[in-house]
Amino acid sequence: MPYASVVLDIPTRQLEGTFAYAVPPELAADATTGATVLVTFSHRVAVGYVLDVTDTPPEDVSPKKIQPIVQALAPSAFDDTAARLAAWISREYACPLCDAVRPFLAPGQKVKVTRSAPDAPWELKTDRAGAVDVRWASLTPAANEFTPARNASRQRAVLDALREGPQRVSELSATIPGAASAVTALARRGVVQVESRRRLRGSEDTTLSSAAAPRPERLTEGQLAALSAIESARRASRGDVVLVDGVTGSGKTEVYLAAIERALADGRGALVLVPEISLTAQTVGRFRSRFGDDVAVLHSRLSAGERFDQWDLVRQGRARVVVGARSALFAPLADTGLIIIDEEHEASYKQDKSPRYHAREVAAELARERGAALVLGSATPSLEALERCREGGYRGARWTRVEMPERPGTAVLPRVTVVDMGEQFRGGGRSIFSGPLVRALEGVTERREKAVLLLNRRGFANFLMCRECGCVPECPHCSTALTYHERTHELACHTCGRTWPVTAYPNPATRCPNCGSRYLAAFGVGTQRVEDELRMLLPQDVEVIRMDADTTRAKGAHQRLLEQFDAAECAVLVGTQMIAKGLDFPEVTLVGVVNADTMLKLPDFRAAERTYDLLEQVAGRAGRGERPGEVVVQTWWASHPAMRAVATHDRATFLEAELAERAEASYPPFSRLANVVAWGASERAVRDLTARLAEELRRRVGAEPGWEVLGPADCVKARVKDRVRRHVLVKAPLSADLGTMLSSCVASLGRPVGINMSVDIDPYDLM
Ligand code: ADP
Ligand code: ZN
Ligand code: ZN
Repeated sequence: MPYASVVLDIPTRQLEGTFAYAVPPELAADATTGATVLVTFSHRVAVGYVLDVTDTPPEDVSPKKIQPIVQALAPSAFDDTAARLAAWISREYACPLCDAVRPFLAPGQKVKVTRSAPDAPWELKTDRAGAVDVRWASLTPAANEFTPARNASRQRAVLDALREGPQRVSELSATIPGAASAVTALARRGVVQVESRRRLRGSEDTTLSSAAAPRPERLTEGQLAALSAIESARRASRGDVVLVDGVTGSGKTEVYLAAIERALADGRGALVLVPEISLTAQTVGRFRSRFGDDVAVLHSRLSAGERFDQWDLVRQGRARVVVGARSALFAPLADTGLIIIDEEHEASYKQDKSPRYHAREVAAELARERGAALVLGSATPSLEALERCREGGYRGARWTRVEMPERPGTAVLPRVTVVDMGEQFRGGGRSIFSGPLVRALEGVTERREKAVLLLNRRGFANFLMCRECGCVPECPHCSTALTYHERTHELACHTCGRTWPVTAYPNPATRCPNCGSRYLAAFGVGTQRVEDELRMLLPQDVEVIRMDADTTRAKGAHQRLLEQFDAAECAVLVGTQMIAKGLDFPEVTLVGVVNADTMLKLPDFRAAERTYDLLEQVAGRAGRGERPGEVVVQTWWASHPAMRAVATHDRATFLEAELAERAEASYPPFSRLANVVAWGASERAVRDLTARLAEELRRRVGAEPGWEVLGPADCVKARVKDRVRRHVLVKAPLSADLGTMLSSCVASLGRPVGINMSVDIDPYDLM
């Protein structure tokens, strides 16, 4: 009788690993790798997933004691390679094995089982509402003569998307809010045609979807070089990585499309990951227009039923190109030859709950397992990717960087002005807006154009900063900015936990440690104040639209504000980070960054990198239309390499300084980090647990070369929902098996009552 190794869906560190169960003959066809099964465990029924089936009985248990699998609950959702990948994720990210398996399951599948009567078979619960009728929208010939009303931006978005080829209405709705009603309105005018079909498309629909793909006449030199590197990587069949380092608008998507075409021609499938936020109807349309029915789309805005339909197409082998957000990595694509991650530097590729994986690392492992190639694309690649390319390889795979420094055609990058706010201050300027920004805004209002003002408000901004030289007190041991705590009048380092009293503050006698200035003040300015000052500054007939957490709380408010901006004749949009991403308005000729610095001084070693990425991405977006764009960046650190690099469009300036600092402090990409956070209602218990954890970690690795244990310290967000939060940070050499070490260390602490703990390997959020 065969034996199955089953992982139980009971996520606790005490039940880690797999358990052996016997596969009775009547279940042999169903209880295969990837199947969901019902088993008994400690006299109760439990749901589990089959990771492996063998004929050899397990060595450590007597065959007589092995229980049979009770029932098969769901058919196989993943293969042996995926099962190995799940085990790797669990080890690498120190998470329970069942947490690592769950992303591979069919969308909508729940862990709970029910049955209608005590002797009836058990059934898995799902939340897949029947998505049987699939409505498809396509343009009619009348669309050529049709121009939507100026304020009908949804209709315009729908028409733009359909120009790339027919799409499902649900897909449009997932990417354009309110698309369904826009489609109805357009159908009434005879511009759009809607067809209902009972099934998802099969091959009979290809004529509909084969709308002409706008294929460029010839590829640029950069594109050809990228393609040939990708081809070599594919032929090597061992998970080689190609970093396509191309400026915004250099044609990276065309490289992806051509590479996928070749993979398909070889009979291999492709996974394409894009950040959730850029997974728009246009993006999907570009892939659909080239590959039609071969494309499945997976992301969180689809209903569970729709996601299941798409997932099932992939499992059946009917869709061989999967386009989706982070989790599309786990789609059941059998013969993956190519994995593409667009905007590789995006922090959203790191999952912020268990399993806390990074898509780049999982993709690299998956590519190795499947003998595929991994393509990473970005205009601002991560330091990790750049460093691995400079080294030539990482974990046995070859890493190659290909540059695409030019845009096809004549499009140019915008002019960037960096304004030194300290200089403005010393010259008597006390306004939020510097002279150059005021003049640029006046130009926009005179020419009746549009501007976007970005107010950097990510994370916390409670530092003390010198208004004259921009100095922020830093921890001498960790080179992280010290945050100011009003309650205790203390400056605290959230990396190592050290504190300094600021007895003099807010006494006006306090002086800047750098320049001796008395203008030390808490840092930070709100969107409301920017809006108020802007209204005073600008003529009455310029619309000022504010977009932040307050004004976008209501459902649909975000879209409404963007539509208002779109429909305005002359307007300024003021907002936080949330506007930086959707910044794709051709009429915008000015992008102002009110305060480029808040992120720069966050107690996070990636603060400078994130600032640079944001500014460079913003700068790449101004002046996308006919008129040239201008970018004004206000900063207290005009001499910071990130600012100088953005001003001159020269990344090397930034990289050189940043890499030197990372190497000096041994931060990634030269080391690995793990962040263990504990939180609970009792401060004493949290302090006690983190102290024990730090002690245990120091006992195990404290003396090893390249290892360092920092803390325990209060988290920057020291209190969330009345829970006290403290953390311990571990630095380790690149080659360290960090996950295994932390799993065993955390397990050895026992199970503390009333305290939650999260282990985050290669963390991106250190707050
Ligand atoms: P990126 O993803 O690098 O920001 P895109 O792939 O969006 O850039 O390409 C920018 C624009 O250039 C698109 O409109 C695309 O159709 C066009 N394009 C891409 N490659 C070529 C080419 N070889 N010749 C002409 N136009 C191209
Ligand atoms: Zn100073
Ligand atoms: Zn410190």
